[in-house]
Amino acid sequence: MASTEHAPSFAHLEFDTPLYRTAVAQFDQAVPYSEITDGVAERLRYPERAIIVSCPVRLDDGRRVVFPGYRVQHSSVLGPTKGGVRYDAHVSLGECAALAVWMTWKCALLRLPYGGAKGGVRCDPRALSQPELERLTRRFTSELLPFIGPQEDIPAPDMATNEQVMAWMMDTYSMQRGHAVPEIVTGKPISIGGSVFRHEATGAGVVMVVARACERLGWRLSEQRCVVQGFGNVGGIAAQELVDRGATVLAVSDVSGGVWDPDGLDVPTMSQYALEHGSLEGWEGGTRVGNEELLELECDVLVLAARENQVHADNAPRLRCRLIAEGANGPTSLEADAILRERGIPILPDILTNAGGVTVSYFEWVQDLGRLFWGRDEIRAKLAEKLNDAFDRVWEIGGEKEIPLRTAALVAGIREVGAALDARGLYP
Ligand code: GLU
Repeated sequence: MASTEHAPSFAHLEFDTPLYRTAVAQFDQAVPYSEITDGVAERLRYPERAIIVSCPVRLDDGRRVVFPGYRVQHSSVLGPTKGGVRYDAHVSLGECAALAVWMTWKCALLRLPYGGAKGGVRCDPRALSQPELERLTRRFTSELLPFIGPQEDIPAPDMATNEQVMAWMMDTYSMQRGHAVPEIVTGKPISIGGSVFRHEATGAGVVMVVARACERLGWRLSEQRCVVQGFGNVGGIAAQELVDRGATVLAVSDVSGGVWDPDGLDVPTMSQYALEHGSLEGWEGGTRVGNEELLELECDVLVLAARENQVHADNAPRLRCRLIAEGANGPTSLEADAILRERGIPILPDILTNAGGVTVSYFEWVQDLGRLFWGRDEIRAKLAEKLNDAFDRVWEIGGEKEIPLRTAALVAGIREVGAALDARGLYP
């Protein structure tokens, strides 16, 4: 068949959510610049595999509750699938599918030998105790045993999951195999084969990308006034890195709301407070601002490190920043993309800007497989090299084709996967 016009169209209703539609629409914007055939494009619109599991968990009070769990594997053409596991009330098959698609482009853009995956459990993680979280994690991992593996699919942390959750996943998998398998997950504690600098990698990577962009734009990073939405593993570390490089952080926010000080916040003390209290709730410095207000503060660099769909058609016309850096996945809607382009506000896209996490995950997996561990400076330098190389390719494609950086980043990723699919051919 010459083109997809004649092929039956399989609308994958199961994935049809706003986020998946966004992922596919972004892909469709990039395809015309990607030099791939219609057949390859059609293949890449859908995940290879999507798994739904039910996880019965005994709560501390004796009740049993069943939590739905998901894992979506988008593309295995370049290697095992890779991506985080999130615990959140909004987790669904369609959301995981969109996030898995983005992981494919992210890994390919960074030239990591992986495809994309994403998974999670629909739950309210803040309402669960540590023992409940452990039982949930172990049961979820057991349900996924036939589908994950160091050469098949390698989970990692995402929203509301951390080193401890990865340790439980690694232990559950290893107990089934009968020996330690550190390479089954990344983002684990260093004591069981985790990598130094993995914890900081996503947030530090955001700032490496912002720094590169500033160089290209002729701005001095140390003169930038920044607002950071999100104060967790991504936003908290990014805020600290910005301060370390001499920039001013005017405002940050977390689940408890935002804090603003036009003279700049004391980020290290706030991080310590958030670590001790679980959030910035009760922090007394600065002025309290709401989430919407925070996004609309006047600043140079707005870092979006909370969650998806934060900048949309309603607030995009009101943003007062000069540059957006996407630390979270999918924080800007399609409509907002168009409005911000019109307004001349460039966006450093998620698949480039937050790729530091999966890049150091890759270094962790390589170290685990080789049973040989590297030092912090070496990892930091290797990460900067990878991110700068990806940034330069994206910048060049953007300039050459006169397309936004998001589309350019997708084009760079899609080309890698398309070339691999072409070379391997269609089985059987
Ligand atoms: N969850 C992170 C992301 O969205 C990290 C994934 C990984 O390290 O595999 O990129």
